[in-house]
Amino acid sequence: MSITKLDQIYEGKAKKVFATSDPSFYIVEYKDDATAFNGLKHGTITGKGIINNKMSNLMFQLLEKNGVKTHYVEQLNDRETVVRAVKIVPLEIIIRNTAAGSFSKRYGVEEGRELLRPTLEFSLKDDALNDPLINDSHIIALGVATEQELDAIRTMAYRVNDVLREFFAGIGVKLVDFKIEAGRLPDGTIILADEISPDTCRFWDAKTNEKLDKDRFRRDMGGVEEAYQEMFRRITGQKGNV
Ligand code: UDP
Repeated sequence: MSITKLDQIYEGKAKKVFATSDPSFYIVEYKDDATAFNGLKHGTITGKGIINNKMSNLMFQLLEKNGVKTHYVEQLNDRETVVRAVKIVPLEIIIRNTAAGSFSKRYGVEEGRELLRPTLEFSLKDDALNDPLINDSHIIALGVATEQELDAIRTMAYRVNDVLREFFAGIGVKLVDFKIEAGRLPDGTIILADEISPDTCRFWDAKTNEKLDKDRFRRDMGGVEEAYQEMFRRITGQKGNV
């Protein structure tokens, strides 16, 4: 693909986004920086950017094959990927299969309890407000997304869950929960954006329940890099320390 990287237009906690010579595309660059608790905790997870870039791209390709439209276009190198330019809908879209994290705290449910059906919740992406939970009527009333967009987002989120759950079960990993983001193309179509990685999903070993995700960093459990590498190894059959 012959596009040129231009100015940085955004820097998030784990990625930078650059404009390109073609306004339909951005280039995303994955960093090793890790944050938790809305930026209160900072650190570096060596090699994370490379693993998250490659893993996310593999997940997006798998989802595309299964009928989910995503922003993925082409991986350029270890840390950089061309994606379709979208306007991000400012929502964190969270699906849960097993109770954990803030859900367990909020409802007083032990971590690891299997939910009777997957749940879906939204948080408003707003660091200053600490990403508050928000419901459908609030989202529509505030003009964050339309009812039609919410329908598309919900359908997409459950489809992503079905595809990923089955895929991860096949490599001995329980998909506990995950966060996705949706983007709008210029014609208004909703597509899957952001990333799918151990930063944004909870992965537990199916046999031992060992955590293989960012909770090892959030909770100072050690073995953080190794967990990311183990996920990458299971997905690709390759070594994660590339
Ligand atoms: N998550 C995320 N970014 C956030 C908040 C949550 O990627 O800003 C992911 C998190 O990794 C987990 C899922 O969303 O897989 C549910 O997280 P939860 O609401 O339990 O929040 P936490 O306990 O991490 O604060």
